[in-house]
Amino acid sequence: MTDRTELRHRVRDLCRGWQDEGRYRPRPDAWLRSFDLDFSRELARRGWIGMTWPRHLGGAEQSNVDRLVVTEELLRAGAPVAAHWIGDRQIGPSILRHGTPELQREILPGISSGDHVLCLGMSEPEAGSDLAAVRTTAERTDGGWRVNGRKIWTSHAHRATHSYLLARTERTERKHDGLTEFVVDMDSRGVTVTPIVDMAGSHHFNEVVFEDVFVPAGRVIGVAGQGWRQVTEQLAHERGGPERVLSTYPVLAGLLDATAELDAGLLVELGELVARLGVLRAMCVRVAEALDTGVAPVREAATLKYLGTEFERDVLEFARTAANPGVLAPDDPLGGAILAAPGFSIRGGSSEVLLSILAKQEAP
Ligand SMILES: Cc1cc2nc3c(=O)[nH]c(=O)nc-3n(C[C@H](O)[C@H](O)[C@H](O)COP(=O)(O)OP(=O)(O)OC[C@H]3O[C@@H](n4cnc5c(N)ncnc54)[C@H](O)[C@@H]3O)c2cc1C
Repeated sequence: MTDRTELRHRVRDLCRGWQDEGRYRPRPDAWLRSFDLDFSRELARRGWIGMTWPRHLGGAEQSNVDRLVVTEELLRAGAPVAAHWIGDRQIGPSILRHGTPELQREILPGISSGDHVLCLGMSEPEAGSDLAAVRTTAERTDGGWRVNGRKIWTSHAHRATHSYLLARTERTERKHDGLTEFVVDMDSRGVTVTPIVDMAGSHHFNEVVFEDVFVPAGRVIGVAGQGWRQVTEQLAHERGGPERVLSTYPVLAGLLDATAELDAGLLVELGELVARLGVLRAMCVRVAEALDTGVAPVREAATLKYLGTEFERDVLEFARTAANPGVLAPDDPLGGAILAAPGFSIRGGSSEVLLSILAKQEAP
């Protein structure tokens, strides 16, 4: 067995053990909706959070391709990984790339141990897809910055210890200039979190209001005013992972287990979906390999997210036809996935915005 195959089996064994003990039920969209600090800490103990980071920052110095093996297996098993997903996938790597050594030491070991839970403060009511239009401001003050503004759709803000925050620190002619990235303690005075329940009846979204929140100078990620380039790179981490392909895998797995009940026409359609999944998995490997060379694969990640969203929509359409489900409860894997699906093409960059990014790259 190769090291990677062995790693894959170790993750499978852990997930199967927890399921057998009734400690979690596999569910679609688990990376966003299934939050269990105990499970994240179990992964941390095995070195599977922050696994590409240096050892002195709590990492295991493995490759992004190794990390892909772990993330794929967790998603296939519908495991409760939401507590560490954003810190591990996105904010940790961003701090590693752009943060000062002090900020790295302050935040990264806590993410890789499962003690720090990060949320993502990008979206705003008036900005949304037009991320450069954020209005939340951070103004310089003694020893740091004073933040005022409002973020929305902030998944798990009510459970987070820290928030990533994109804020405007200068008014400039070009809206892409003058943006700065911060890490904010969620227990800071002036931070208010209000729940938003989604149409699946689950509470992961929140609105977060910042009123005169003091953020120490050392909490800037990278260079003040240069946040746009950094956030664009960071979005490659957000868009380029297997969660853009495997959010519905527990539904697909159920169909693959029930092939005896499918007629020949449905089997052909299922085979096409499996072949498409193979192509998308190969694209995930390409993205991970690019990350290993230190490149931010902006274009590949946008392509993967766009095609992955289409694939997941088709998996659900197929499941609706093949399983002839009638009325489904929201806690049925297919019912839960159908209710979550409208968000797939919006979160992390809507399909229209991804197509726009890709078209601009093709233009001379
Ligand atoms: C499940 C889920 C989880 C999320 N979690 C987080 C989170 O943790 N943190 C966070 O910061 N955000 C989060 N978001 C927010 C998400 O990333 C935003 O919803 C997204 O950026 C879109 O913004 P909006 O909702 O304001 O829609 P809008 O920007 O108003 O877009 C509405 C529609 O108009 C289209 N549109 C907008 N502009 C253009 C254009 N120029 N050209 C073509 N079409 C356009 C869009 O594609 C979309 O179809 C989450 C969203 C979802 C669905």
